[in-house]
Amino acid sequence: MPTCPLCNGVTVASRESISVERVIKMYKKLLGIDVAGEFGELSFIDCNRCNDCDLIYFSPAVSGSEHFYEMLQTFNWYYMAEKNEYEFARNFVKPTDDVLEIGSGKGAFAKLINGRSYLGLEFSQEAQRLAAENGVKVFNESIQHHCITNAQTYDVVCSFQVLEHVADIRTFIKSAIVCLKDSGLLILSTPSSDSFSASVSNFILDMPPHHITRWSDASYKNLANIFNLELVELWHEPLQHIHREFYAQTMLTKWVMKLLRQKTSVWNDSITYRLISLACRLPSKLLSKFFLGCLFMPRGISATAIFRKNTEVWGIK
Ligand SMILES: [Zn+2]
Repeated sequence: MPTCPLCNGVTVASRESISVERVIKMYKKLLGIDVAGEFGELSFIDCNRCNDCDLIYFSPAVSGSEHFYEMLQTFNWYYMAEKNEYEFARNFVKPTDDVLEIGSGKGAFAKLINGRSYLGLEFSQEAQRLAAENGVKVFNESIQHHCITNAQTYDVVCSFQVLEHVADIRTFIKSAIVCLKDSGLLILSTPSSDSFSASVSNFILDMPPHHITRWSDASYKNLANIFNLELVELWHEPLQHIHREFYAQTMLTKWVMKLLRQKTSVWNDSITYRLISLACRLPSKLLSKFFLGCLFMPRGISATAIFRKNTEVWGIK
C-alpha cells in the first residue's frame, strides 16, 4: 500500500496505473532520450491522488538520476533564466534579509533580489560553475545536511520548481523550516495541478523520472497545516506566452473528448485520443493566435506559495 509522501495517508481518491514501457517509448519519440535505466525492473507506476491532503504522487517514487538531468540539460529550454515566480517572490525579500535558495541553478534569482546575503544550494556542477561566473555564492549540499549547522539562520528560504522532483518531501520541508528564523518566510513554487497542465495526457515531463508529485492549492493548504505554518499567499502565474498554443490544444482536446464521452486520463495513447488531438492542432493554433489573451487570460502552469514560520507552534503533525 503506497503512503502519501506529504501527510503519510494511505487512502487514495483516485489511482491510475501507467505502463513504464509506454513512458520510455514516449521519451524516445518526443525527446530522443533513453530513460529505461531510470525505472529498473518496474513495469508499472501508479499515479495516486491522496484522499487526505490532495497531493498527487507517483509510486514507486522514481526520481531521475544525474545522467537523466544531464540529458535534459542539453535542451536550451530546460533552464529558463526568467521565471514569473521570481518577479512575484522578490517582493517578499527585504534589504535586511538573509536568503537561502534550494536548487538555485545558475543563480538567476540571486541577481533579482536586494537582500543582505544570499546562498544557493545546487547539485548540478555546470550550474555551480555558471553561478560562480556570475559572482553568486553556491554550495554543493543538500538542505537536509545544510540545516544541521544552519538552524534559524535565514529570513527567507525559497525553492523554485524543485519540490515536485523531491522524493522525501517531509525531510526536505522540515529542513527548510529549521533553517528559518522566527517569522521567516518559506517560498515554494511548483507546477499547479489546478492549472491546465493537469488535463494534459501523456505529459512525460510531469511524471517520473522527472516529477514525482503534483501540487494543488488544497495540498499547499494542507502542507501549512501539517507543518504548523501560516499560509500567507498562494499565487498563480498568468498563462505564459509560450504556453498559449499548449493551453489551447489541451483545453480543446479535453472539450472534444468530453463531447464524445471519452475519459481524460494521465496516460492515454488510444487511437481515439490521438485522432482527436491531431484534429485539434490547427484550430488550437488559430485560437491561441487570435483569441487567447484578447478575450481572457487563463491561469498559467506555475503556482507559488508563501508560508510564515512561527517558532512557538511549528512542528510536524
Ligand atoms: Zn496526503
